[in-house]
Amino acid sequence: MTFITRFAPSPTGPLHLGHAYSALLAYDMARAANGHFLLRIEDTDTSRSRPEWEAQIYDDLTWLGLSWEKPVLRQSEHLKDYNRRIMQLADMSLIYPCSCSRSDIRAALSAPQEGVPSTAIYPGTCRHRSMDSRQAGDALRLNMRLALEHLCGQQLEFHETGPKHAGTHRISPQQLQLTTGDAVLGRKEIETVSYVLAAVVDDARQNITTLIRGQDLFETTPLQVLLQALLDLPTPRYHHHKLIRDDAGKRLAKRDDARSIAKYRADGITPSGIRQQLGL
Ligand code: GLU
Repeated sequence: MTFITRFAPSPTGPLHLGHAYSALLAYDMARAANGHFLLRIEDTDTSRSRPEWEAQIYDDLTWLGLSWEKPVLRQSEHLKDYNRRIMQLADMSLIYPCSCSRSDIRAALSAPQEGVPSTAIYPGTCRHRSMDSRQAGDALRLNMRLALEHLCGQQLEFHETGPKHAGTHRISPQQLQLTTGDAVLGRKEIETVSYVLAAVVDDARQNITTLIRGQDLFETTPLQVLLQALLDLPTPRYHHHKLIRDDAGKRLAKRDDARSIAKYRADGITPSGIRQQLGL
């Protein structure tokens, strides 16, 4: 099977050293395997995505020496597909509309309610609602218990090749119920989807065989694998890499402008200087 991987940034701020590590590692692994490196723009969050950040992504990656196949998949152009997938799950009776605000959820969690399990995840206040009662502005949640029942005990697992958790991971239903719960798959207007759902749909669409991304996203993998099983999509291999941290040991964030690639470029560092700094 030809190795296919992707770098999937969200154009919501400048790329920093952590993104450079992820993109370069994916590119190097694809080259070493004689495979393909794809770029995907994850711009479903239309309130935070900006064309100027997208342009900067192309510019920074080209400067780093990367090239990718065109046309680039931009998720904002495929919102209908994600919506269709949510409706597919709704037709399986696995989705319900939810009007709880963050503060409603906090209140429900602090005061035990009859019939509502006391977990740190969504307490299920709207779980009884049917899709017919959906109103503009509702979030669409996956009913985790029904989703697991739907799979009739099918074993969920994924293979990880990253340094920290290498090996085959079996996902237990209890783990999904307790750590993920009734995840939001669509938000507010029906055309807005969660990152996890859009990524699962596009990883399948782009025939991704190995997902390479930061360790911070390891925890989202069980939900992705569950969605792959429900939607009858293949599960790729996963490779979660180390995180690039600042001098205080904190993971770099988009607001860390000081470590943005653009800033390094302005300071005169070369692409090979960046590779050296990242240990690549
Ligand atoms: N768009 C995500 C981010 O910028 C990446 C998700 C992924 O690689 O799966 O954090």
